[in-house]
Amino acid sequence: MFTQQLRDLEKISQAVGNSPDLVQGGGGNTSVKLDDTRMAVKASGFKLKEITPTEGYVVVNYQNIRNYHQNVDLSENRDFEKESGEFVRASVIPTEGLKPLRPSVEAGFHSILLKYVIHTHPVYANMICCSQNGKELAGEIFKTKDYGFIWIPYINPGFMLTLAMLREISDYRQNTGKFPQVIFMENHGLVVTADSADECIVLHEDVNRTIREYFHMDGSFPRIQLEPAGEGVFRSNTQYLKDFFKGRDITASFFDNTVLYPDQLVYLNGNIAVNSTGQKLNIDTSTGEIYYNTNEKEALTMEETLLGFVYVVESIRKSSLPLKTMSQSETDFIRNWESEKYRKSLVSTNR
Ligand SMILES: [Zn+2]
Repeated sequence: MFTQQLRDLEKISQAVGNSPDLVQGGGGNTSVKLDDTRMAVKASGFKLKEITPTEGYVVVNYQNIRNYHQNVDLSENRDFEKESGEFVRASVIPTEGLKPLRPSVEAGFHSILLKYVIHTHPVYANMICCSQNGKELAGEIFKTKDYGFIWIPYINPGFMLTLAMLREISDYRQNTGKFPQVIFMENHGLVVTADSADECIVLHEDVNRTIREYFHMDGSFPRIQLEPAGEGVFRSNTQYLKDFFKGRDITASFFDNTVLYPDQLVYLNGNIAVNSTGQKLNIDTSTGEIYYNTNEKEALTMEETLLGFVYVVESIRKSSLPLKTMSQSETDFIRNWESEKYRKSLVSTNR
């Protein structure tokens, strides 16, 4: 059943899932609406490139999830974060041949969009999303495009983000008569949506290419090189990162004072040592060397996240844009969010 749609889900996931400039670690997610009630959406903790027609996703009742968010009464004093998370998990439709996995923490906003959805954390879109006045910048960069966009100011992911997106979509439709197919989320990333898989892929490419062209980013994204350096130790040979850290006057607090987006907290922060050892990620600024004390899977996730972070910070600096970071209360929310703790716990295990 749904053979074609599930092949399309694999196709849109592969189209972005193999490029660390578009997604890092287990970040990003995709979905396809299979009929009037069922949606296949990436499972939490899986990587986009791991999605096939039989793996890496779960089927949920998206009408129920959509209705929940559309009709929730915020005047009632309830723990909506917890409730909505439980609601989404309870909306999983057991499907033959599929493992009973947890849906992505972002399944809420997938349920309110068009048939196909690609959500990524591209370093290009995140130059805009992690800049102050990013909305105005996006307006300038995309002013000649037929497709419009909506901008979601930073808001806690999950329940609140879905509500904010519902509001912005409704306003946009009222003003233009069209469904917004491109969504920029401040301090987070990009969402594109379309009624066909190919249109969704083309749109995703066009948005990132347009940003690259605007900023004259002609070079290719740095290639990740990670090599074993003993039992449970990996060394980064990614030249871009070595060059960045060599001779740089930073301490570990640099990462805590410069939080660009939630995945940085989930995969990186709290595990970094600068000019000392004993953490999962150890940086020596005298040589630029980076060592990981963990398994290969987690080392790669951390290296991808580190490279994405440094690349965005450096690209924003080179373009003389003012950086927009997350606030203390915003980062506290992520650190304490059960859904992210769950996702984090899957990084270092093989499920
Ligand atoms: Zn995301």
